[in-house]
Amino acid sequence: MSSLANNKILICTHNLNKVIEFKILFQETNIQILSLNDLNIDREIEETGDTFKENAYIKASFFHKLTGYPCISDDSGLSIRALNFKPGVHSKRFTPSALDSSNNKKVLELLENERDRYAFYTCALCFIIDDKIISIEEICEGTIALSEKIGNGFGYDSIFIPLNQNLRFSELSDEIKNNISHRAKAFKKLIDEIGKL
Ligand code: IMP
Repeated sequence: MSSLANNKILICTHNLNKVIEFKILFQETNIQILSLNDLNIDREIEETGDTFKENAYIKASFFHKLTGYPCISDDSGLSIRALNFKPGVHSKRFTPSALDSSNNKKVLELLENERDRYAFYTCALCFIIDDKIISIEEICEGTIALSEKIGNGFGYDSIFIPLNQNLRFSELSDEIKNNISHRAKAFKKLIDEIGKL
């Protein structure tokens, strides 16, 4: 099963927002994206790595072994300079509830009166097919806004202003986000690498 002959790649995430972003990014290719939901897989895998790259590899290799499909996994998160680059790999579970609203509230509270608001998103992608492993990492720099504005996107998008934009990701269109985001940049590199296979 594991060759691109049938043009199917499994995206190893239960995060529906990420699946949607990947489906949009793959639209221009002849590759069909499958999600874990499409295969009725509800297994969660613990992200025990210390780096985004490690976590992406852990997820991709687990689901590749389980299904035999060529697999792409994504591990991503937000690193804030004034917080010693936290939450980093713990972005999803920065607060016990893991709710976007409480994560964002915590960041804004920790940065109250803080002038250094520099932050960046990281996206590590791992693609496994047959005996090949491709690892890619890209970032998207920006600043943390003074307040939250709910809108498009997910996670920290309602408080993150990408570099050279005056608006939060939540206020920008999918089209703009999918051009400049950490995930879009990593994805473009990955497509180049897949093209070389
Ligand atoms: P994981 O990669 O599934 O472990 O989760 C990463 C977490 O980082 C998400 O739950 C979000 O909180 C955050 N994150 C990663 N990428 C983005 C993004 O593009 N926008 C907003 N938040 C993101």
